[in-house]
Amino acid sequence: MNTTSGTNSPRPTPEGPSSADRKSADHQSTGAAPPAVVAPSKDGALPTTDTSERVAILDWTMPQLTQWLTDRSFPKFRAGQIFRWIYQRRSQSFEQMTDLPKDLRKQLDSAFEIFRSTTAAHQHSADGTEKLLLQLADGGRIECVLLRDGPRRSICVSSQVGCAMGCVFCASGLDGVERNLTRGEILEQMLKLQQLLEPDERLSHIVMMGMGEPLANLPRVLDALEVAKDADLGLGISPRRITISTVGLPPAIDKLAAADAPYHLAISLHAPNDELRNRLVPVNKTTGINAILDAADRYFDKTRRRLTFEYVLLGGLNDSALCARQLVQLLRGRTAMLNVIPYNPVPGLPYETPSPDAVLQFRRTLLDGGINVMFRQRKGDDIQAACGQLRRLREREPQVIGISKQK
Ligand code: SF4
Repeated sequence: MNTTSGTNSPRPTPEGPSSADRKSADHQSTGAAPPAVVAPSKDGALPTTDTSERVAILDWTMPQLTQWLTDRSFPKFRAGQIFRWIYQRRSQSFEQMTDLPKDLRKQLDSAFEIFRSTTAAHQHSADGTEKLLLQLADGGRIECVLLRDGPRRSICVSSQVGCAMGCVFCASGLDGVERNLTRGEILEQMLKLQQLLEPDERLSHIVMMGMGEPLANLPRVLDALEVAKDADLGLGISPRRITISTVGLPPAIDKLAAADAPYHLAISLHAPNDELRNRLVPVNKTTGINAILDAADRYFDKTRRRLTFEYVLLGGLNDSALCARQLVQLLRGRTAMLNVIPYNPVPGLPYETPSPDAVLQFRRTLLDGGINVMFRQRKGDDIQAACGQLRRLREREPQVIGISKQK
């Protein structure tokens, strides 16, 4: 993080609970364009990058902002006012915070930024889904999605720029991972999607299922979700309505369980045996399905939260009757829901949507086997809402994207 100020005020220097972790990762930028794949630091964390002059207020905690105010002789209660303006009253600038003294608004504006990304593309689907392609301060691009489903207003949020997991059917992993997102960058997605809502609409659910593997950036994901579930100063979304989706990293699942935050855990299985899963989800070679299921069981024992398994159904690859029977054997007896999602083709990748017959047969086998299964309808097909598609298309063929609105 750049701590050099262009103002007369000393620069804010946050030292919050997770700043040590952030420092270890956030200060590794070389200033050069990041390579497609970046080596992790000693603590296993990927670097984050911060090139802006002013500090991202979304990276700051309540104690940090309170200290900053106290240092400038402003009362402590102003910190709560500022965060409520940002997270609850959808303020986009300090100038809009009309119950703050003018001098404070001016100082805040000199020291901090609320939003640091620009919206490179904003797409609307006929089914109400909206997708944003955000360009970050260092040029990295991420996607996030707002889904409307009855009264639900769910958002799908990214945790990394790119992804290292390499799932063969996913556009996000095609170019590897560039870096972890900061806590502020994760929160900024939530706030930008919240701003797409009408005044009488409220965010109801969060899924950490966008670009990246959330458990590979766990400290920052947990920091951001603390704010998301904070009913007093943050977004006030119940942890029961927050889902963290992972390909299955057993040590990180154990860390998540130990964090005592009862978020919903969704594990992307995509194959019922190691031979096939090694091909579809290469990171499986270092874990194996059994170790993932053991970690999932420990998570369930600790949190008592029902597990969800995700299974992208790929035509001719993992949609056979044998695969369905093997899935039944794996999941039978677990308090779990299986979400099956027929594949959404990605331009340039050779994978296909399963045939209606194959879907029907797969479903019948699972139901006959006593599995609690839901076949999810894909939303936003017409706007490349599957993970990483918009970013990839936008980089390669900007002319083919129908951008309905830009901010
Ligand atoms: S599906 Fe998820 S974990 Fe797999 S490469 Fe894509 S973003 Fe990464």
